[in-house]
Amino acid sequence: MNENLDASPDASHDAPSDVHVIGGGLGGLAAAALVARAGRTATVYERRGRLGGRATTDWKDGFGFNQGPHALYLGGEANRILQSIGIRPSGRSPSTKGAFMVNGNVAGLAPGGPTSLLRSPLLGWKDKLELGRIMARLGRLETARLASLTVNEWVDDLTRRPRVRDVLHTLIRLTTYTNAPDELSAEVALMQVQMGLGKGVIYLDGGWAQLVDALAATPGVRRVHGDPVTELPDAPTVIIATGGPQAAEALTGVSVEVGPIAEVSVLDVGLERPPQRNLVLGVDPPMYLSNHGFPDGMVPDGASSVSVSEYLTTEMTPSRDRLQAFLSHAGIAPDAIVTERYLHRMTAVTAIPVAALGGLSGRPTGAVPGHPGVHLVGDWVGPRGHLADAVLASAEDAAAAALRHLDRLPAIR
Ligand SMILES: Cc1cc2nc3c(=O)[nH]c(=O)nc-3n(C[C@H](O)[C@H](O)[C@H](O)COP(=O)(O)OP(=O)(O)OC[C@H]3O[C@@H](n4cnc5c(N)ncnc54)[C@H](O)[C@@H]3O)c2cc1C
Repeated sequence: MNENLDASPDASHDAPSDVHVIGGGLGGLAAAALVARAGRTATVYERRGRLGGRATTDWKDGFGFNQGPHALYLGGEANRILQSIGIRPSGRSPSTKGAFMVNGNVAGLAPGGPTSLLRSPLLGWKDKLELGRIMARLGRLETARLASLTVNEWVDDLTRRPRVRDVLHTLIRLTTYTNAPDELSAEVALMQVQMGLGKGVIYLDGGWAQLVDALAATPGVRRVHGDPVTELPDAPTVIIATGGPQAAEALTGVSVEVGPIAEVSVLDVGLERPPQRNLVLGVDPPMYLSNHGFPDGMVPDGASSVSVSEYLTTEMTPSRDRLQAFLSHAGIAPDAIVTERYLHRMTAVTAIPVAALGGLSGRPTGAVPGHPGVHLVGDWVGPRGHLADAVLASAEDAAAAALRHLDRLPAIR
């Protein structure tokens, strides 16, 4: 069973290392692995007792639960970068057979793609024609042209039909993990929907700990844990991968303008048998349920698990009762539940890319003014990707910048 590789005491704070990486989540580990693959050494400093941050997998009563439902986009930056260093994520594509839920009522359909969406009883025939027209165009639209439009502005431009708007917003919430249509850049929404409808996603065998373990095991990556780093180390090359902008600012003293946080509450449930439905998308309320028990090594034989999330807005207070109500409306019988794990408030994205800042290109670069040799990593950094794709893309940029900096050092000295 995968235990997220406890941070190993294989390096001390004094061990000489080419690159110091602060933060042992996916971003810090990926940056360290990329540095190590290029023949340099990297030491990862993690404040907690285990590596992985928001990509850890917890075990309860034989059930593996990620920190909320996690899907790896096969067409995204994370998969490409992992493959480039010889890590081939293993997992399975989720079944798309499921339903929409409106006001507690399930409207049966399989929202797996344009054709199945069009069979939905949620939509009248005019809605279906309109949605079909829009879906046929989505794959061809250029994402960057939408950078300065909000999701609301874009969807309002696409259609006047309320139900079609509802369906588009539901798909955008699902693929962006964000419920801020009046701020999120439509560029990101389109990018994620295109990837979702294109190559799709996989849920990982053994959970996201699979990635954490593979990155941490890269030869040349050293790990130190237990204490937070409270000031920038006196080292020539430092990568800050501490999660969000505030934690980075605490170390650099440099503040940057970014979008708001995106948060969710999550109820993971271990089941003694597979659920009736693999996917239930809440049109109203903004929630979704998905089956997470089918990848290898996640549940005991014959058992299953589902995860229910609610996309929180700034005004909302998380509620376990709402998640439980959604679960029961989705047809999960109480007698099938073996175990539960509730996450009250989780950060899905530390700072979303907003239209007001020009979308992805408005996110801060990985460079830190006044601190040559210091580079930033995170879901809020750099012009590429969203969620873990942004994390790994910024890790790739930071590792490349750190290696260039190291190569120039003799000349600088
Ligand atoms: C509910 C949920 C669902 C998600 N679903 C998806 C999904 O489907 N697809 C997807 O691509 N992404 C998804 N994500 C996002 C993904 O999990 C994150 O983008 C990614 O794990 C973030 O990695 P990170 O390394 O940037 O940050 P973190 O995981 O936050 O890691 C930062 C690390 O730095 C450490 N740290 C902080 N400060 C210090 C310090 N001063 N000294 C030492 N260490 C420090 C922390 O302890 C932590 O381990 C989801 C996230 C959540 C919460």
